[in-house]
Amino acid sequence: MKNQIFIWFAVIWMLPAQTSDVDKLITNLLGETPLKEDLKELCDGIGGRPTGSIANFKSIKWGLEKFQTAGVKVQKDAFRMPGLWLENESSAKISGAVSFEPKVVALTFSEGTHRSGIKANLLDGGRGLKDDFERLGEKAKGKFVLIETDELVDIDGLFKEYADAVGIEDLAYNAGVKGIVYMSSRPMRLLYRHNASRSFGNTLPMLVMAREDAKRCFRILRNNQSLDLLVKIDVRSGGPFKSFNVIAEIEGSERPDEVVVIGAHLDSWGLGTGANDNGCNVVMMIDIARQMINLDIKPKRTIRFALWNGEEQGLYGSMAYTDKYESQLDKHVMAMSVDIGSGLITGFFTGGRSDVFDVTNKVLEPFDELGPFINIDIPLVGTDNFDFMMHGVGNLIANHNPANYAPNYHAESDTYDKVNLITLKQNSAIVAAVTLGYANNLDIILPRQSKEDIEKLVQSTDLEQQMKSMMSIWPQWVAGKRGR
Ligand SMILES: [Zn+2]
Repeated sequence: MKNQIFIWFAVIWMLPAQTSDVDKLITNLLGETPLKEDLKELCDGIGGRPTGSIANFKSIKWGLEKFQTAGVKVQKDAFRMPGLWLENESSAKISGAVSFEPKVVALTFSEGTHRSGIKANLLDGGRGLKDDFERLGEKAKGKFVLIETDELVDIDGLFKEYADAVGIEDLAYNAGVKGIVYMSSRPMRLLYRHNASRSFGNTLPMLVMAREDAKRCFRILRNNQSLDLLVKIDVRSGGPFKSFNVIAEIEGSERPDEVVVIGAHLDSWGLGTGANDNGCNVVMMIDIARQMINLDIKPKRTIRFALWNGEEQGLYGSMAYTDKYESQLDKHVMAMSVDIGSGLITGFFTGGRSDVFDVTNKVLEPFDELGPFINIDIPLVGTDNFDFMMHGVGNLIANHNPANYAPNYHAESDTYDKVNLITLKQNSAIVAAVTLGYANNLDIILPRQSKEDIEKLVQSTDLEQQMKSMMSIWPQWVAGKRGR
C-alpha cells in the first residue's frame, strides 16, 4: 500500500504537466479555501432557515451569490411548497400535584392553540404502544398523553424513532386524545424538532418535552398523582407558497446533455443553525464548483450543483426538480445527495442497484488513499436522492462516520462548532473524485429504470416501510404524485 502511494505521488511529481484534473481538484479542496467562512456566514450569519422563513429566503440569495461570485452559471428554480409551517413560540405549564414549567417545543406540523392555550389532564402514555392505549381506554379521550422514548444514540435509533411515531400517532388519533407530548430522546434538556407523521395532514397539538422534565412527570404520574398540562403553541401556518432551489451548472465539454447531479439541502429547522444538517454540505457543493472554475476544469458531462430547498418538510425541492426536468432524466447519469453530517465519508449507499454499486466501486478504486470505502447497496428514504430513485435515475447517498450527527440531529445544538472542518474538507475531496469519475468516464452508462423496475425495487426491499414512516411519502407514491 505504502509503495503504491509513493509511486502515485512520484508519478504526479515527475509529470506535473499531466497531473489530472481530479488530482488538482483534490489538492485544491484539501488546501485553503473559503469553505469555513462560507459555513460561518450560512450558520452564524443567516442561522436556522426553515423553508418559508425570512432566513430561508436570505439563504437562497446567499447561495445564488456564492456561485455567481465563483463564476459558476447558476439560477433559482421556483417550485411550489404545499404549505407553510413555522413555529413562533411554544410553552407549557404543569399543575396539579406539582407546578412547574417544562421546556417544550412544537413538532413540525403541530396544530397551534388559542393565545390562552389549551389545558387538559396529562396521562402516562407509556411507550405509546397498542397495550398502552388499551390500558388507557376511554380515559385517553380529550387528554394529553405523554410518551416515553429511548435515548437516541445513533442513526439507527433515529430511523426507529421515525418509524415508531407513525404507530403511536395512529393509536393516539384513534383514542381521541387532545394532543401528544413526546419525551425528548436527547438528555441534558436538549430539544429538537421532528415532523408529525401525518405531515401537513396533522391536526393535533404535538410537543417534545425536555427529557428530564418528562421523566419528572412520569415519576409523579406513576405515583398515582394527577397532573394537568396547559399548552400554548403559536405557529404560523398557511397554504402553498413559492420557494426556490439554487441550481448551478458547469457544462460538459463532450456530452453537455448528460448530467451528473450532486446536492445538499439549504433549508434546516430553526432550533439550531442547520450546521451538520445540512449547511456543511451546502458549502461543500459551492467549494467544489468554485475550485473547478479556479482550475478551469471542464468535465466531459455536465455537472449540476443543487442546493435543495423544502427538504425537511418532505423532500419537495428535489421532487420539483425531477418533475421540471423529467424530459432530461433519461440522460441523468447519477444523482448524489450528501446529507449525513461531517463525519468522514466511508462509502456510498447505492440505492439497491447492483449496476450503480459496481460502477461506484470502480470509480472509487483509484482514491483508496482517501478511504477505505465500503459501499452499501440498499435504497434509503429520507433525503434528496429519493425522487431520483423513484424516477429510475442512478443515485447515491454519501455514508459517513456517524460522529456527532444523531445526538444533534434537528436539535438546538446543531451549530457551527459541531462540524468537523477537517473531515468536511476530506469529504469534499471524496465527493469531487466520485463526481468527476462519473462525469468524465464516458463508458459509464446506467440506464434509467422503468416503472416496473422501480416497483420491483419497492417489493424486494423495505422501501414501502421506509416510505410509510417518512413524511407521508407512501400515499404520494401510491397516488402517482411522486416517481415515474
Ligand atoms: Zn438533512
